[in-house]
This record gives sequence, C-alpha cells and structure tokens, in this order.
Amino acid sequence: MNVAVVGGGAVGLSTALALARHGASVTVFERDELGSGASGLAAGLCYDAFADDVDAAVAADALARYRDLNLFEPHPYVWVARNESDATAVREQIAGMQRNGIAATALTPTELGDRYPALDISGIEIAGLARDAGVLDPDAVVATLAEQAQSDGATIETHTPVSLSSPRTVETPAETRTLDAVVVAAGPQTKPLVADVGVSLALKAYRAQALVTDPVDATLPSFYDATREFYWRPKDDALLVGNGAHEVDPTDWNPDADAEFIDRSLDRVEQATALGPACDRAWAGLCTATPDGAPLAGQVADGLWVATGWQGHGLMRAPAMGEYLAADVLGRPNPLSEYLPDRVDPTRFDGSEEFAALDDPTRGWDE
Ligand SMILES: Cc1cc2nc3c(=O)[nH]c(=O)nc-3n(C[C@H](O)[C@H](O)[C@H](O)COP(=O)(O)OP(=O)(O)OC[C@H]3O[C@@H](n4cnc5c(N)ncnc54)[C@H](O)[C@@H]3O)c2cc1C
Repeated sequence: MNVAVVGGGAVGLSTALALARHGASVTVFERDELGSGASGLAAGLCYDAFADDVDAAVAADALARYRDLNLFEPHPYVWVARNESDATAVREQIAGMQRNGIAATALTPTELGDRYPALDISGIEIAGLARDAGVLDPDAVVATLAEQAQSDGATIETHTPVSLSSPRTVETPAETRTLDAVVVAAGPQTKPLVADVGVSLALKAYRAQALVTDPVDATLPSFYDATREFYWRPKDDALLVGNGAHEVDPTDWNPDADAEFIDRSLDRVEQATALGPACDRAWAGLCTATPDGAPLAGQVADGLWVATGWQGHGLMRAPAMGEYLAADVLGRPNPLSEYLPDRVDPTRFDGSEEFAALDDPTRGWDE
C-alpha cells in the first residue's frame, strides 16, 4: 500500500513508523524541518495519570512504546489543589486512576513537604502523586521516530509543502502523486488542508507558552498546580515552566512568549518553592482543540485520514495513536480499536460547531 503522511511532527512520524513496520510504502512530507511545529516546542511531560479509562489505555500503550524506544525518562508527577472544589476534583481523579490500575496516591501537604522539602506547601489542600510518570526530550523523540521510520523503509521529504487536489492526491512544488491513502497530521494546518477537498473539521488553535529558567538547586517533581493552572518539569538542572494559553488565529500568532507570561511564571515558581530563578529562554507554540476535548483521528473521506486535536497531549500520546492510525489505514487489528473509534472519530462533528478552544483561559492565571 502506498501511503503519504503530511506533517513531520511526533504524530506524523509515529504513524509513518507504524505504517512502514507493517509493510506499507510510506512517504512523509514536511513543509519545513522535522519537529518544527508543536512537537519541537513541547514541554515533554509524559504520564499515565488519567482517571478516564480510555485516556489511561492510550497512555499505557504510548508509555510502553516510548520505553521500548528508550525515550522515556521516569520522573514523578505531582499535582496540587489549593481550594476545596479543586481538592474534591483531585480526590476523584486519584480514585479513578486507581480503578485504572495507575500508581497514583493522595498526599497530605505534610507528606508532600517531607518528600520534596524544596516545595512550599502553604496553601496546598491536597496533592496527587503519579509515581510512574516521566518526561520526554521532544528533539530526541522526533529524531528517533524519524530514524526508525527511515530504517523501516519510510522516505522523508522535508521542505516540501503539500496541498491536496483530491483525498488521495498530494501536490508538492515538484510533483503530483496519487496514493492508496493519505494521512494528514499537520497540526492546525490539517483543517485548511482537508477543507480543499471538501472536509470540514471542528478544530481550533490555541497558543501555549513555556520558558526555561536558570539552573535551580533543588530536587523537584514534575508539578501541576490545578488551582493556579501552571506547570513545570525539571529540565536538565533548570525548570521548564508552562501555561499562559489562549485561543488564536493559526495564521496570525506570535511565536515569542509574552513578557507578562514570563513575569507571572517566575512569580508562580517563587511562590511555590521560594526559589527565585530568572528566565533563560521562552517561546510559544500552537496546540489544537476540539469541541469535546478528544482528538480527531480517523478516516474522513475515501483514502483520507486526519490526526489532530490533541489538546496539549499530542507528544505523550503519539506512538500509541500512530499505531492506531496505521492499523486503521491498513485494516489491521489494534488493541486500542476496542476503545477508540467512537471517541476519536473525526466525523462525529460536522465542522460547523461553535466552541471555545479553552474553557476559561484566564482562570487562575489572573488571580
Ligand atoms: C508550549 C507547549 C508545550 C506542550 N507540552 C506538551 C507536553 O508536555 N506533553 C505533550 O504531550 N504535549 C505537549 N504539547 C502539545 C504537543 O506539542 C502537540 O500535541 C504535538 O506535538 C502534536 O504533534 P503533531 O505531530 O500532531 O503536530 P506538529 O508537531 O505541529 O506537526 C505538524 C507538522 O505539519 C507540518 N505541516 C503543516 N502544514 C503542512 C503542509 N501543508 N505540508 C507539509 N507539512 C505541513 C508542520 O510544519 C509541522 O511540522 C505542548 C505544546 C506546546 C506548544
């Protein structure tokens, strides 16, 4: 089977790798460099801490594949609540995770402080600890997936922007190619690309920001503050801090982080740790959103598949979703086919839905 994959991010490359391993003849078309979209800008959080059983099944599959590829670095993930309603949500999440067999436990603030003395526990009501979580290096993910896909026979063409002239026909600046199947994993660009062949997707873009601090001298977990809505993960000897998300037009957005985001993030770190690092570098990238928060991953027309709408979780899910999509394209069995088809079917929306990419992007941030 001849398959084109449009988009050389983690999802396109994972799909190409799985297709090539199952014997398809695959070409990846990337308009820029591999990983030049959201994948190369991601924070690299990767965890199994999901209360929902479908999300947990996808995470278990993805983490196992990342471990096999030697890309998963174990690192505990802690999330905290600072008010009663968020604390209730955290308790329910932990109960759901435990039902899914995930190594998640509740910690009192004192237990949290004993475990991580560098954390300032004042104001924290409860914490969750996911012991089997980890982190990924996004550049290593992209490079390894590309290398493995190529060693299994895939061809990768960078600096090759693609448009579609039919569901199975890709146009590059140099040629027109008709294939047995086309998978479009082009992030927010997936929507205009497939619109050219009459497919309307319920997809929006939002801009997420991140920064890396100067080195910090402390042992810290990956951390999400559910009340103040920001996160960090240790990165080398510094912290990568993120949030500051808001909906944007994907054709008109600023890839530089806002000064306000940088100031607030550093304040948040100082409040939560009493460490006062400065900002070393900062950036923004585009994430994709759907009306129900689940991705759009599946067939949309004869010979045409899409994979987008990851809601900020695309890197951690990529290898599982790539296998799932490849199996769908090739008509092969996949363990996730038991759970996923209805949840991620891109045709569950007709594309005319009105929705906001983020429920309330300023919640917590402006407190
Ligand atoms: C600041 C930030 C932090 C994040 N942190 C995390 C995290 O910790 N964990 C996590 O799991 N996720 C995280 N994400 C989300 C994650 O980055 C994305 O969900 C994931 O990378 C999506 O991968 P993708 O392959 O679908 O898309 P992308 O990586 O965006 O790849 C799409 C590719 O398609 C190419 N393309 C577009 N149009 C065309 C065309 N016409 N022809 C050819 N190529 C085209 C683009 O150049 C791009 O390389 C974060 C995102 C941001 C911005």
